[in-house]
Amino acid sequence: MYNILKTYFGYTEFRPLQKEIITNIINKKDTLALMPTGGGKSLCYQIPALMMEGTAIVVSPLISLMKDQVESLLANGIKARALNSMNSETEDAAIRIECRQGKVKLLYISPERLISEANFLLRDINISLFAIDEAHCISQWGHDFRPEYIQLNNVLRQFSKVPVIALTATADKITRQDIIKQLNLRNPKIFISSFDRPNLNLDVKKGYKQKEKIRIITRFIEKHNGESGIIYCMSRKTTEKVAELLEDEGFDTTVYHAGLTSFEREKAQDDFINDRVKIVCATIAFGMGIDKSNVRWVIHYNLPKSMESFYQEIGRAGRDGMKSDTMLFYSFGDIVQLTRFAEESNQKEINLEKLRRMQQYAEADICRRRILLSYFGETMEHDCGNCDVCRNPPERFNGTIIIQKALSAIVRTDQQIPTGTLIDILRGNSTQEVIEKEYDRIKTFGVGRDVPPRHWQNYLLQMLNMGYIEIAYNENNHLKITDAGRKILFGKQSGQLVVIKEEEGFGKSFSKSNKDKIYKPVEIKRNAYILSDEDKEAELFEVLRQLRYKLAEQEAIPPYIVLSDNSLQALCHIKPKTIEELDKVTGFGEYKKKKYGKDFVYAIKDFG
Ligand code: ADP
Ligand code: ZN
Repeated sequence: MYNILKTYFGYTEFRPLQKEIITNIINKKDTLALMPTGGGKSLCYQIPALMMEGTAIVVSPLISLMKDQVESLLANGIKARALNSMNSETEDAAIRIECRQGKVKLLYISPERLISEANFLLRDINISLFAIDEAHCISQWGHDFRPEYIQLNNVLRQFSKVPVIALTATADKITRQDIIKQLNLRNPKIFISSFDRPNLNLDVKKGYKQKEKIRIITRFIEKHNGESGIIYCMSRKTTEKVAELLEDEGFDTTVYHAGLTSFEREKAQDDFINDRVKIVCATIAFGMGIDKSNVRWVIHYNLPKSMESFYQEIGRAGRDGMKSDTMLFYSFGDIVQLTRFAEESNQKEINLEKLRRMQQYAEADICRRRILLSYFGETMEHDCGNCDVCRNPPERFNGTIIIQKALSAIVRTDQQIPTGTLIDILRGNSTQEVIEKEYDRIKTFGVGRDVPPRHWQNYLLQMLNMGYIEIAYNENNHLKITDAGRKILFGKQSGQLVVIKEEEGFGKSFSKSNKDKIYKPVEIKRNAYILSDEDKEAELFEVLRQLRYKLAEQEAIPPYIVLSDNSLQALCHIKPKTIEELDKVTGFGEYKKKKYGKDFVYAIKDFG
């Protein structure tokens, strides 16, 4: 087991549960494996496939996923093939011959093909195991039901001696039971690994407007220079707007949403997978079927509609286990919008509740990872240290007067104003609306001038979440005071607010438009004359990344399949000068050593 792990995959240690799962399968027992995205599910059947006689049949619902898996196996010198509707007749025929000759270790196959081949090809080959990937697709309870999965059971029953492993990253209890039932797993052993992804940094940014968000994102991307990332937006229009604004800032960006032609969508996805473009602004339509391991960051430009979506989307970062950053923006507008969607949906109550949980997460003042994991039924014993709350615990102050000012303005306008107007009144902005409706005459006009608009946004969100105000979605989103709010307004109770911490470089003049980027972080070099070891490693990383890109291009495969970011980093650290020394580099199996070893060793020597 360890031998294969090292020789083929270049790894020395198993991830949690991998060894146990592999052992169960080679003992020919049915298995259900639940692991988060990036947990390392594939190895769980790939290693048994290599250890056992015959061909492993892997059922997978998405052609792009099959392609990715086959490419990475081939890149490790493992004979894998895929049978699906993308192949030509001749390709299919060639694959069938290779299978019959027993040359293929892993055969990926779409569920439709599995069914149509059950009495033909499958009869002629020695099947080592069946792996059912994305097994939740079989359940109507899951979020991605695929009717063609239902018939798998009939095929599996014909091969009763062959062990079956079902794998998924998303399965609650009901779905789990359903998978076992629908696939007719025989006395299966169930393995559930923790859904924690400790390498993902969690960060929430509250109450920012478009211009400020772009500024923050710009700075974020500059820190992530040259790395791949996804910006999820709520609407098609927003994806295009954000992309345009980032292009203006000089970043090469692409968009992805359901309104594009399938050609455009495929191109965007392909460019991203192959590192030709590093930034995608996308709706949630993007990501299914992408196994790119070196996505280094994910930003939510808007609040997601549920914790499930949120978790799935951030999960696309850092599959290789390396440190990755996520950032979630959350604003009043998002809540208004998402509530409307939920209200109009046909599962109104559930969707509103899901949104509420998402909101609580964004508003939390305890470790965010704790909340995230507890949502998925896991308890964490300690704070994570890798979220914004852990790094910067919220401080509170007596915010009664601020709250009263806002509530009073709401009362004095007969609860007939939305947030934007409220902030105008508090700040004393004589907008057209304010003048027309004579809001400049009320007593609270301008009483909140000392509080910047963004802080008002933030405080109002806090007030909303503490239940002092409500939004009347059916009345043009006007703000209404609740009973709890009334108690504060009339001085019967005091209210606490969380201190707003300024973003670095977000001075008072922030709201002034200035395109000269004076807020760009200044790089501080410890010694301006000598490159530090860290700088040198970063430079070498860039050199090796370029080399990886070139090699990938020559072979028309994605760069992360040539080598993972993890391996590149290990190369920079270890700086092997001989092929033998590559043994110490994670991800360098024998095949890759032979194939790319020289190129990388020379590049490192050249670098000095
Ligand atoms: P999943 O299918 O669960 O999302 P993958 O099987 O694609 O995850 O694995 C995610 C990444 O982790 C891949 O790049 C894989 O090579 C890597 N990986 C898996 N197992 C190990 C291991 N034991 N040691 C190091 N890397 C691993
Ligand atoms: Zn934390």
